[in-house]
Amino acid sequence: GNENRELQVLFFPLPANGHIIPCIDLARVFASRGIKTTVVTTPLNEPLISRTIGKANISIRVIMFPSPEQTGLPEGCQHFDSALSPDMLITFLKAMVLLRDPLEHLMQQETPDCIVADMFFPWATDSAAKFGIPRIVFHGMGYFPTCVSACLRQYKPQEKVSSYTETFVVPKLPGEITLTKMQLPQTPKHNEVFTKLLDDANASELNSFGVIANSFYELEPIYADFYRNELGRRAWHLGPVCLSKRDTDEKAQRGKEAAIDEHECLKWLDSKEPHSVVYVCFGSMTTFSDTQLKEIALGLEASGLNFIWVVKKRSNGSLEWLPEGFEERVLNQGKGLIIRGWAPQMMILDHEAVGGFVTHCGWNSALEGICAGLPMVTWPMYAEQFYNAKFLTDIVKIGVRVGVQTWIGMMGGNPVKNDAIEKAVKRIMVGDEAEEMRNRAKELSHMARRALEEGGSSYSDFNSLIEDLRSRAR
Ligand code: UDP
Repeated sequence: GNENRELQVLFFPLPANGHIIPCIDLARVFASRGIKTTVVTTPLNEPLISRTIGKANISIRVIMFPSPEQTGLPEGCQHFDSALSPDMLITFLKAMVLLRDPLEHLMQQETPDCIVADMFFPWATDSAAKFGIPRIVFHGMGYFPTCVSACLRQYKPQEKVSSYTETFVVPKLPGEITLTKMQLPQTPKHNEVFTKLLDDANASELNSFGVIANSFYELEPIYADFYRNELGRRAWHLGPVCLSKRDTDEKAQRGKEAAIDEHECLKWLDSKEPHSVVYVCFGSMTTFSDTQLKEIALGLEASGLNFIWVVKKRSNGSLEWLPEGFEERVLNQGKGLIIRGWAPQMMILDHEAVGGFVTHCGWNSALEGICAGLPMVTWPMYAEQFYNAKFLTDIVKIGVRVGVQTWIGMMGGNPVKNDAIEKAVKRIMVGDEAEEMRNRAKELSHMARRALEEGGSSYSDFNSLIEDLRSRAR
């Protein structure tokens, strides 16, 4: 309403698809409730931000990106994605501190009442303090992985095991969650630098005004309560933010430009029976070896199911890694669609022909799967994806694991075999177990929608956040 007009909130996402998309979706929630909403970005990310904003009433402000000499990044690189090597990804995150001066300069001009900044800008808490305004952290995650991280940080069970494969329980956390060191975000290769980045993020989070969780209370009540009451953190759940985009055309436009004609894609889906298509996508960052791609192809073929499979482009654009005769047997028969590059994911997931989702368990994808009411095959790769995978399989019980237990999979270890893929995909698509998981997922998707309606848990948390901000601003 109009009473909200006087507040201005500045949003500052990490320039990565998996961060920009939920941040803009979150900004859309604020804009739709009458808050003056501004997103800050860098020159080369502006077109992407503008596309993703679409028709929403959100302004964009552009700040300069430091030069390659300052950052150590290649010329023209302002985006965190799979085009960067693991070393360069770390260089990128380290370079983010160079955005501090330009951001503070902008804050001086804009005089916002609050800044919502990504976890990878830990210094933003101090920047906000300079201007006497609150800094809120948005890391795009739910409560569960955040609770896991906090407990590991506090009780350090991972330091008491002697190998990477020994299991330990996450102390104090409800649910008897077990993990191995293989499933922690820090890989041995980048352990020190990455641990430092996460330590800084954590320290600044503790000093911040609080955290916005991309979640809703009914999804994880135990962990929402644990985070706020046991860990004593301040947090508001305002999600699932992906639901802030409603009609199909708008949904198609999140993130990069789709690598497929969206209407063709819809036509293909329209020609399929309800729940007969499995959607396979591993987020914006993951690329696989040819051997692994081949195993996935064989597994999908053996399942006999329809599929849409998103394969991120690599330097060699050909499909030569496909098994012999796959195109004739599968693709040309209309059984499967391979999207090379960016897929209109939300649009696909929400189509009634889609009945299951093979996912790397990035939190955005996991929530989008939940909102579409789909059972999922969990295939985590890195970061907090192993925690999210546990959440889907063990806590809300709408996931089936495909056997991936470590980030080694991504570092060129043994590929997941086609028969494991075939089995897992069938388990979420056909039979009683699939039906039960789909019913649970559907129930969660209804709860998600209710949470955002007037009087719902996320709607109410938004009101209390605005109330908190307004009393600070007075
Ligand atoms: N996404 C998409 N098309 C693709 C790949 C990803 O639209 O081909 C979107 C997806 O819907 C999600 C985001 O990109 O909103 C990926 O975020 P997530 O947290 O799942 O994974 P990340 O890319 O950060 O690993």
